[in-house]
Amino acid sequence: MIYDIAIIGAGPAGLSAAIYAQRAGFNTITFEANVHGGQIINTPEVENYPALGKVSGVEYAMSIYEQAVGFGATIEYKAVTDTQLEGEIKTLKCADGSEYQAKAVIIATGVVRRKLEIPGEDRLLGAGVSYCATCDGLFFKDKTAVVVGGGNTALEDAVYLASVCEKVYLIHRRDEFRGAKHEVAKVLSNPKIEILYDTIPLSIDGMGKVESLRVKNVKTEEERVLATSAVFVAVGLIPQNDMFAGKVDMTDGYISADESCTTNIPGVFVAGDTRTKSLRQLVTATADGAIAGTAAANYLFE
Ligand code: NAP
Repeated sequence: MIYDIAIIGAGPAGLSAAIYAQRAGFNTITFEANVHGGQIINTPEVENYPALGKVSGVEYAMSIYEQAVGFGATIEYKAVTDTQLEGEIKTLKCADGSEYQAKAVIIATGVVRRKLEIPGEDRLLGAGVSYCATCDGLFFKDKTAVVVGGGNTALEDAVYLASVCEKVYLIHRRDEFRGAKHEVAKVLSNPKIEILYDTIPLSIDGMGKVESLRVKNVKTEEERVLATSAVFVAVGLIPQNDMFAGKVDMTDGYISADESCTTNIPGVFVAGDTRTKSLRQLVTATADGAIAGTAAANYLFE
């Protein structure tokens, strides 16, 4: 069978694309290597999606999944490992050896969290090292936790963890945060958060579980050991685009596309965090999905 549109990734962008393409009368198949919902399932509370009020990320993920399936979308829980994107019929190869064909492809593979690449990070993963404060924060109730990073994720994680933990260290490698000013203000006014500027982590230490983090001030060269039960890593995102390298134009690892969500390959579109854009948010991911789904439908109408 040749599908009309294959969508890679069942996060908000991919599922929005499926909703729009299905409603336009095309059959879609959406591939997801993990669970549907993407990054948003790690968010405790979504409160900036217009008109939605407050919902948890998991509730949002379930809701958009049900909506897509309600419009007839098919979700295959398989990792796509290779693609052939040229020509009128595109081919997707999956990790289990299966192959699928479609007339158009929408790439909505999202991003994953960057690692620190320091000793102890891998060894103590799941034993105090985490990339998701909202998933794992409660394990460290009334304990001390460290957050590493200076973007919105780190700032939000620090505030969330301060509501659970006894004390939170926020470690940032510069003396100015990258995140939004209002998020910075929340961190600065929280008495449970101690900020260590100009500080980088050197190693995460502990016997079987995180017990401390060794850090260094990059200006004074002074080293210090922070006693902590957890290290939450929030140092940015890596687009999941390796399999498209050399096949689709990219900029700094992100697939090059403007608001039209159109790539340089005819019939191949991109939506969500994995494309070049200035604001990576739930609302911009779903907007991309709508645009890419509609653009793919228009491409097939031509
Ligand atoms: P980000 O904005 O890229 O920030 C990453 C932070 O980690 C930066 O402060 C960076 O330092 C630091 N960093 C990078 N590599 C490091 C390393 N090896 N060691 C120590 N520190 C390192 O990433 P993010 O916070 O995950 O946010 C990603 C995107 O999602 C952004 O566009 C953000 O605005 C968005 N977001 C939005 C919200 C919201 O609006 N509610 C919430 C979360 C995320 P430098 O500053 O020195 O580069």
